[in-house]
Amino acid sequence: MRIRVGHLYPDYLNIYADRGNIAVFARRARLRGHELEVTAISVGDDIRPGAYDLLYVGGGQDREQALIAPDLAAKGPAIKEAAAAGASVLAVCGGYQLLGRGYVDRHGVSLPGVGLFPHETVAGERRMIGDVLLECERERGERRTLAGFENHAGRTRLDPDAEPLGRVVAGFGNDGESGYEGVRVGRAIGTYLHGPLLPRNPWLADWILSQALAHATGGQPQELDPLPDLLEAEAYRVSAQRARDRGGRF
Ligand code: GLN
Repeated sequence: MRIRVGHLYPDYLNIYADRGNIAVFARRARLRGHELEVTAISVGDDIRPGAYDLLYVGGGQDREQALIAPDLAAKGPAIKEAAAAGASVLAVCGGYQLLGRGYVDRHGVSLPGVGLFPHETVAGERRMIGDVLLECERERGERRTLAGFENHAGRTRLDPDAEPLGRVVAGFGNDGESGYEGVRVGRAIGTYLHGPLLPRNPWLADWILSQALAHATGGQPQELDPLPDLLEAEAYRVSAQRARDRGGRF
């Protein structure tokens, strides 16, 4: 099967090797006989409804976010339409912030958001940097954990009825106070976790791929054949231990 990926602003939003998440999607799809077709979508490009099974956006400094935010907000209706029609979305850090209703950066400049995610972000004085460990669910009742790295000034406040991606075991998370990290809206996931995120959390890569495949086929999400993931398990183990040892401290 061909999985069509729209990679938003790879030329602006790509810190902490966030591009590596695309490489993980491509490899894990290929090992199951599928092919990833990645299209870069940047300033001035259109998003054709129905053209993508998965939309991906990485993180970036305030400066890069300010350069693309108006263009991204203008793409908001198409992004929300795609998500409502069942496309998967993975948004990391700066991209996660801008898929919410907006981000007030460290200079007090208010950047518009897409409004796909039920939250708002305001930059604080001190950056929240370090390893993170989350407890979350793959599907309701199926407990999993996620390990990654965060570096953000933004404090993201979820709406009261919003579903976080996970509970913070170690680290700062959305705002260093709520005890939650990220957000989930159907097949759309937002998170502060860099690293990149997916090499050390292959179960999440497979969950997102299975949702994207369901969109591509018009069917229901199917479990993907398991892979050995020995290196991935070691990367996760080291990252999770670092988070337990020193995550969430200024
Ligand atoms: N510039 C944003 C912040 O500082 C996002 C940073 C990032 O993507 N790592 O919060």
